[in-house]
Amino acid sequence: MSQLIGFQRREDVESKIREFIQNERSEPKPTELRFKAEAKEKDLTLWFYDTIGDVPQALAKTISEHPEGGSINVRINSYGGSAFGGLSVYDLLRGYKGTVTTQVDGVAASAAAIIALAGQRIRIVQSGFLFFHRAWAGVVGNYRPHLQIAGELRKIDILIATILESRTKLAKEQIEDLLDGEADGTLLSADEALTMHIVDEVIEPPQQSVDSLSDVSLFIPTNPPGGDGEGVEGDWERPVLKDFTDSSWSDLSTAERNAIAKHFVFAFDLETFGSLKLPHHFPPNHRNKGKASLAGVRNALARVSMVDGMSEEDRDRARAHLRKHLPEREDSVDVDTLALAILRNL
Ligand SMILES: [Zn+2]
Repeated sequence: MSQLIGFQRREDVESKIREFIQNERSEPKPTELRFKAEAKEKDLTLWFYDTIGDVPQALAKTISEHPEGGSINVRINSYGGSAFGGLSVYDLLRGYKGTVTTQVDGVAASAAAIIALAGQRIRIVQSGFLFFHRAWAGVVGNYRPHLQIAGELRKIDILIATILESRTKLAKEQIEDLLDGEADGTLLSADEALTMHIVDEVIEPPQQSVDSLSDVSLFIPTNPPGGDGEGVEGDWERPVLKDFTDSSWSDLSTAERNAIAKHFVFAFDLETFGSLKLPHHFPPNHRNKGKASLAGVRNALARVSMVDGMSEEDRDRARAHLRKHLPEREDSVDVDTLALAILRNL
């Protein structure tokens, strides 16, 4: 999704959104919402840069456990997805007892636009777009399921309209027009959204370059099995997929992939098993299951600087995580030198 950042032509954005919706219509895929969370004391930043799917427990937990009176900054760049997913995130954010600011970094369409409305303050980059439309669904069957779904779609529309009404100063008829659009929905530029008081502020594009913004899809397991405890000695071999499951990677759900990813330090995404980098926790079929392996930790430390495409910030986080597994005496020496020495001896 990172290609959405930056200057984009209105027609291109609109046709991409319609293409996305059309694809979802013809073959809806159940997805779990992927997000990235970064907490600094009472400041939490959440990135939604992917298709909006079912809301994972981890997101509900992250928001509900964030200390009251703090702030949550939400960064959005998504074509949308599940209306229920968008509404759930909206409810979670509105329920937070603190400040919520939402920021559209590129496109917030459909379900992602609902999330944008959760901000007490809503910002959008100058080159950004919002897209609102009516809920839709594909239905097969006689008139009964059609009538039932029509009723449900209408309920979702009314919910979205109510949210728009409470979050903007638009009149009911204006909202209906916005959802209808000329054909199906309305694409709003940043300035149009500001004029309609849907957003509070139009901002310069974020300081990060396109490159570093694309990093937000990176995945760093935050809670490896065995916790942050010291690693254990023992034979260590790089785990293979078979150590975790008999299924093929493409058959695994996001939750299952996440559970496996926690045995590693880092992944660019969860698209392939090979994208998981720096393994250091024993797989479930090992007698030390889930625990960190000291040999694996030292190996991973030696390789942190060799993983292509990792940002310096993520390298530091990876090292910090790995060092926590080392015994204290070893942590105090220059671990990188030590790890390199070990690597050379392999
Ligand atoms: Zn670990």
